[in-house]
Amino acid sequence: MSFVEKLMFFDLTVMLDKCIEATSPAKRDTILKKYFKRVLDLQQQYKIEYPCNDHSLYPLIRIILSTEEHQRAYGIQEKTLRKILINSLNIIGSSDAKKVEHCNEDEIADTVYEVVKTRSSRTSTLNLQQIDALLNNLCENQKQQCQQNQFEYLFLNGSASDFKWIVKIILKKMKLKVLVSKLLLNYHPLAPQLYTKFHHLSQVCKIIDSGRAEEEIKDKVEPFIPIRPMLSQKFSNDMNNMIGTAEFYQEIKLDGERFQMHMENDVYKYYSRNGHDFSECFNILLSPLVKYKTVVHSLILDGEMIIWNRSKQRFVTKGETEMDVKKINDPNSNLRPCYCAFDVLYVNGVSYIDQPFNRRCEILSSIFDDQVGVMIKTEPIKIRDVDHLVSLFNTAMQNEEEGIILKNSVSKYMPGERDKSGWYKVKADYFDGELVKEFDCVIVGGKYQNPHKKDYLLKYSVGAVEKLQDGSFKVYTIGEINHGLSRENRKKLNDKLVPYMRDYDNENKVEFEKGQVYFGKTRPDVFIPPHKSIVLQIKASELAPSSDHYFKYTFRFPRISEVRYDKFWDDSVSLKEFQEFFKSDNSG
Ligand code: ATP
Repeated sequence: MSFVEKLMFFDLTVMLDKCIEATSPAKRDTILKKYFKRVLDLQQQYKIEYPCNDHSLYPLIRIILSTEEHQRAYGIQEKTLRKILINSLNIIGSSDAKKVEHCNEDEIADTVYEVVKTRSSRTSTLNLQQIDALLNNLCENQKQQCQQNQFEYLFLNGSASDFKWIVKIILKKMKLKVLVSKLLLNYHPLAPQLYTKFHHLSQVCKIIDSGRAEEEIKDKVEPFIPIRPMLSQKFSNDMNNMIGTAEFYQEIKLDGERFQMHMENDVYKYYSRNGHDFSECFNILLSPLVKYKTVVHSLILDGEMIIWNRSKQRFVTKGETEMDVKKINDPNSNLRPCYCAFDVLYVNGVSYIDQPFNRRCEILSSIFDDQVGVMIKTEPIKIRDVDHLVSLFNTAMQNEEEGIILKNSVSKYMPGERDKSGWYKVKADYFDGELVKEFDCVIVGGKYQNPHKKDYLLKYSVGAVEKLQDGSFKVYTIGEINHGLSRENRKKLNDKLVPYMRDYDNENKVEFEKGQVYFGKTRPDVFIPPHKSIVLQIKASELAPSSDHYFKYTFRFPRISEVRYDKFWDDSVSLKEFQEFFKSDNSG
């Protein structure tokens, strides 16, 4: 016996219909509250009468929240569902069958309701235990005939409304217009928090049923119960403020797939971001190779699984290969899964998720030494100031990383949290938003990739142009840029510039045919006369004070969006425009 046998599906569907018809969120709330109160009161009574019986509300919760239910997959395509419905209602070839066949997807449930209503005036006799079993049967045996049998059973025992709601449940289109967290709140005051922490409704219900909700919401994690990963919010441009008020660490943004590694007594499990178990994929090629520097009998790590190329001794980026890290299973292959840990949540029976990030980093370092190609860890770098951050970001860009992650040193590990997590992702693309500025600057100098070999320019000094009344020009360096060009485009640009490159004699002012170029502290290896040079279209996020170039401000996170071979050198941004640019940047 179980408690849900006491709950009629009819009561539930009447409540759900009312919810859909409700004209305001407040009304929907009241309807749900009333229903749950009644159910919880009944459950309380049931617990007293039958203390040994199953009193879980999981079958009810997974029906109401069928859109969130990932453990029950019906494998029924919409087209097949129409066919099954037509067959089970025995209406093949009729005008009603045509309706079911041709209505749009959103109307299937209502159309079936109308069709069943004209053929059966039966009232529903099914309880939630029976509905739960029916839904399980639909999943367990997905042969069309078996699924059809379930609908035939429904036709004989259920009502038109039952049909409608079963279709909605299967299609996961409940359209209740209620937030999951609000709905769960009616079930248990801690249910929304539990659902933020754990992946599955089954886990949430299990904890609530066991009466351990208070305890589980705290800093507890356990091996083999995956929790939702902590997420990063998009970087805000209020960088000065952010970096000035808290201590941040920078890590590279790994180009892999998020996985939690759980281990207890040498049994390893790997959970994807959605809490799916992919242990089989990594237990052959990875787990047996992992070594620790202390005795570790239980562990939970957070990190990314990345493809490692053994012969090239480097990671393979997602852009380079179609290969899925979960599909690497040939021990003789050059490619292997390598786990790159960036956090530790649990070691030897102790949960660390409530500890600050910098403490967790210490723990992570104390557990294992990097094993190239097997298991490594990120190396967080403490950010000194905004300039340091800018240079770290630019280095990441130069190394063709996707971006960086900033982590507040005091942040706890908050499962499923993004906005208050204290982790920030900084990617060049984010500067494509409102705050990004795009402008053209002429190249006036450059630094070689290898100054001894004088091979090709890696960094370009760019300038703003001031046209004087007498027709001469002054060009002021405003920044140095090295990111954004593919190897091929860099080569093409280099070839065009080579004929005009002159040795730079370390002067602050260099004369050229049409005027002067003024440099700041940053001195290039070569000088390029602006009127022979090329214009770069640059994207950057904002301006920051800098003493490196002639102008006292430079742009942040610059990247070359295009080489403007089509532009004249004096089409470049003027110093005045650049100053305006700075003002508007600070005004908002
Ligand atoms: P999100 O994960 O934030 O929903 P997403 O899947 O589109 O977004 P991105 O926006 O590219 O991913 O970046 C965030 C993801 O970066 C994280 O979820 C995590 O999987 C990954 N990541 C890579 N390196 C790190 C790191 N050092 N620390 C934390 N997360 C990292």
